[in-house]
Amino acid sequence: MSKHKTIKLNVGGTFYETTQETLKGSGYFRNLLNEGWAEGNAVENTLFVDRDGFLFRFILLYLRTDELDIKDKYLKSLKNEADFYLLPRLSQIIERAMYQEPKKITYKLLENDELARLYGLDFYNRAQTRTPREERQNISVITPIQCVEQVYNCPRRIPVHNNKPNSCGNACEKAKGGNNYVEYEFKYKNIYLVSVESDQE
Ligand SMILES: [Zn+2]
Repeated sequence: MSKHKTIKLNVGGTFYETTQETLKGSGYFRNLLNEGWAEGNAVENTLFVDRDGFLFRFILLYLRTDELDIKDKYLKSLKNEADFYLLPRLSQIIERAMYQEPKKITYKLLENDELARLYGLDFYNRAQTRTPREERQNISVITPIQCVEQVYNCPRRIPVHNNKPNSCGNACEKAKGGNNYVEYEFKYKNIYLVSVESDQE
């Protein structure tokens, strides 16, 4: 008998058709096939299983794709099905999904270097030290936002004074002729609206 021979199933009144190969992922069907079920039923070739027909769809999906794709509200019922069909790995996956705490999402506005730091990137960091893993956050950028920033420039063009008006002494102000003289320019910069995913407290 070809191992790709199809098998018809009647699960609680819902009909499915699949291959022996697919069914062999389940201990329950493996046992039946080893007992010669498929050979013995070659004529009718329909196996009745007295389980839920709707949920079997997700069992079959898992057998075919190795993936779990079901709404949370069915997880508990599907766990029973996974146990019945002897699918210990699926059972484990479901259990993990059932007890997973929902993630908490917060939204923040971050500047460039802060974004880089929380991401764990090092190219903004002159010291070439990466942000330690435990300080990184699970961040997704939703959108960059262009904004205008007012930047202070030292009237004496002393680079270390730029952006730090308090660093400028009298000499700097006097250089432009007035004690209260400050020089600002406006620059475009991007900030980032991000979502941060974290575990519930
Ligand atoms: Zn200055």
